[in-house]
Amino acid sequence: MIDLHAHTTASDGSDTPTELVGNAVAAGLHTLAITDHDTTGGWQEAGAAVGRLDVPFTLIRGTEFSCIYDDGDERISLHLLGYLFDPEAESLKAERARLRESRLGRGEAIVDALVAAGYPISWQQVIDIAGGGAVGRPHIGQALVQAGVVDSVTDAFAHLLSSSSPYYVPKLEMPVELAIELIRQAGGVPVIAHPWARRRGRVLDEAALRSLVEPGLLGIEVDHLDHAPDDRARLTELAEELGLLSTGSSDYHGTRKKVGLGSDTTSPESLERLLGLATGIDLIHSPATG
Ligand code: AMP
Ligand code: FE
Ligand code: FE
Ligand code: ZN
Repeated sequence: MIDLHAHTTASDGSDTPTELVGNAVAAGLHTLAITDHDTTGGWQEAGAAVGRLDVPFTLIRGTEFSCIYDDGDERISLHLLGYLFDPEAESLKAERARLRESRLGRGEAIVDALVAAGYPISWQQVIDIAGGGAVGRPHIGQALVQAGVVDSVTDAFAHLLSSSSPYYVPKLEMPVELAIELIRQAGGVPVIAHPWARRRGRVLDEAALRSLVEPGLLGIEVDHLDHAPDDRARLTELAEELGLLSTGSSDYHGTRKKVGLGSDTTSPESLERLLGLATGIDLIHSPATG
């Protein structure tokens, strides 16, 4: 089984990279992509953990970039997965740093608004929960759980942390066309993440998706928890029509989200195509991989 989207403590997942690799093996995966938000911070630890495995296993190093689509009329937040890009490529590296930096001020602004409304959490608490990883709303959600305000991070997202909440503050996001171009320049493969995750807010329509082919988009994450069956069917058709590869993945976040590794998967054929398009960095295989 192949799962191309998972988070660790380097961003808003609850597994360390080492734990993620162990859990991936336990879940029956043989290929996993680590895709933390706006960072490559978990790559080294995950690679080392794969180096210690005694079963066949392949790690794909990636990142999920915070992006914005803006056609002049509307601005829509979206996520872009980049796989196997060179982490030393300067422009992209600088953008990742900018995105992570902005998550700090923005996270603090959300916490300030919640505190002003009487919710008993603190920014220091959120920083401690994030533990040096790229700060995100799930960390604030965890603080709200600790404070007894909500039962789960998912519950926190229903109202307090949703993008339509009065406490919501937007974060810095990269123009998606720029992100696509920089990932390609760094030898990576850009794949749009959960494009029709409609419960999160506005999503790109078909025309907007089509417009990303020209800047160099190479794939669409079709099979994802947040995609309804008819949306999966339509995205599959669209990917075929546009010559894009289609992927499937869990978007695992450990205990911060109710989804298990391998809940959606990518076909071996799509993986082969993806690997054929990547020129940035190599896969990491466990010693037992043939
Ligand atoms: P942020 O990057 O700080 O804007 O937070 C967005 C992150 O929150 C996403 O990457 C998901 O990991 C998580 N998220 C979004 N919606 C939900 C939800 N309904 N339940 C749990 N986690 C969510
Ligand atoms: Fe996340
Ligand atoms: Fe995402
Ligand atoms: Zn994700």
